[in-house]
Amino acid sequence: MSEKTIFEKILEGSIPSDKVYEDEDVFAFRDIDPQAPVHVLVVPKVKTRSLATIKKMDNDSIARFIKGISTVATNLGLDKEGYRVVLNHGKYGQQSVEYIHAHILGGRQMSWPPG
Ligand code: AMP
Repeated sequence: MSEKTIFEKILEGSIPSDKVYEDEDVFAFRDIDPQAPVHVLVVPKVKTRSLATIKKMDNDSIARFIKGISTVATNLGLDKEGYRVVLNHGKYGQQSVEYIHAHILGGRQMSWPPG
């Protein structure tokens, strides 16, 4: 069996996190190395590696993941000024944790193109 990722350990509670939201489908916590005044990660409780493997998730779980991202951003008060959502995949995307997660970034003006 492959080794657990750090996000699975956070989900099972064996390592601590700064939780901001949880429901039966998603878990959200503050990024340990924030890149914006608000930087929260949202993970679905159903595991897949990244967007590249999301076909393995059932459609309901995908929908609940997207709705969870929206709920967390709203709860964080980001709707009015806006925010960015990032899902990294693979080497070029600089994914470092192989458990799908959405970054919610807010609280400052973003720029484009991203680095
Ligand atoms: P990515 O590079 O897209 O895979 O994003 C992984 C994110 O997880 C990075 O932004 C890290 O700062 C963050 N991270 C890693 N370990 C932890 C942790 N223990 N608690 C919170 N965030 C973490």
